[in-house]
Amino acid sequence: MSDALPFEPPVAEVTLGPTGRPLPDFPEPRPLTQHGPARVVALCNQKGGVGKTTTTISLGAALAELGRKVLLVDFDPQGSMSVGLGLNPNEIEVGTYQLLMDPSVTFEDVVVHTEVEGVDLLPANIDLSAAEIQLVHEVGREQVLASKLQPVRAHYDVILIDCQPSLGLLTVNALTASDGVIIPLECEYFALRGVALLKDTIEKVTQRLNPRLRIDGLLGTMYDGRTLHSREVMETLVSGWGDVVFHTVIRRTVKFSDATVVGEPITTYAANSPGAESYRQLAKEVLARWQRDA
Ligand code: ADP
Ligand code: MG
Repeated sequence: MSDALPFEPPVAEVTLGPTGRPLPDFPEPRPLTQHGPARVVALCNQKGGVGKTTTTISLGAALAELGRKVLLVDFDPQGSMSVGLGLNPNEIEVGTYQLLMDPSVTFEDVVVHTEVEGVDLLPANIDLSAAEIQLVHEVGREQVLASKLQPVRAHYDVILIDCQPSLGLLTVNALTASDGVIIPLECEYFALRGVALLKDTIEKVTQRLNPRLRIDGLLGTMYDGRTLHSREVMETLVSGWGDVVFHTVIRRTVKFSDATVVGEPITTYAANSPGAESYRQLAKEVLARWQRDA
């Protein structure tokens, strides 16, 4: 006679997220009754095309949907974020370059109230490329952006800085001005190579210029769950960095480039798409993490 049970005992169902870990429920963030002072966060990776600009715009828009007052800082001479929010680069007369280098230019001269409710922008265009060279001769050359953002922190809840793909003086300025860094990484084999170098730079800035600075998280982007290598990259990332890796992962979809063409964030361009939902989830995860670390 078999002593097997006449039925299978129920197995508790655990949904594993794309990172191979159980996906937590992120709490609904509390509504704010007053605003500021802002947490300043740099979106940083010296590799181009990894989703820095897309993440800055989409996360900013998702945080604004949650009632946060958001300032986006375009700190890349390519000006992709400004274009992604509908600006024409040739029509930007004063941008982050002028704010940094010209003492007669004020924050109010530069700030643009975008079409997205709750999202302001400091735009940039190719003018900013000159700053990298000119800043070298400035006293306190690493602190210029920090000093320009300090007085406006009181008016925002979050300031996100879209960095250029290099570890030069502009990026060091962004890191010196920030409380946290978010590192977007494309889910490709070579993505992991540059992270050690970036970590060194962040550690140097922490030791020499800005002891407040923390790594807020690593974000897997352009994830394709059908390919083994996307999953392997996420697993390798989690085995090396543990919970620094966000549970939220951004899947690959053409909706992001479509949104850029029309100059809107994905949260308004394709409000119900999985891409928009992922960035809403990231916004909740980020807010929970900031609250935990506060
Ligand atoms: P970076 O700022 O790091 O250079 P971008 O955010 O500009 O990267 O993204 C590079 C390109 O990839 C852009 O054309 C963008 O529209 C596209 N892209 C960004 N995120 C995704 C995604 N999750 N899926 C597909 N394409 C994406
Ligand atoms: Mg970019």
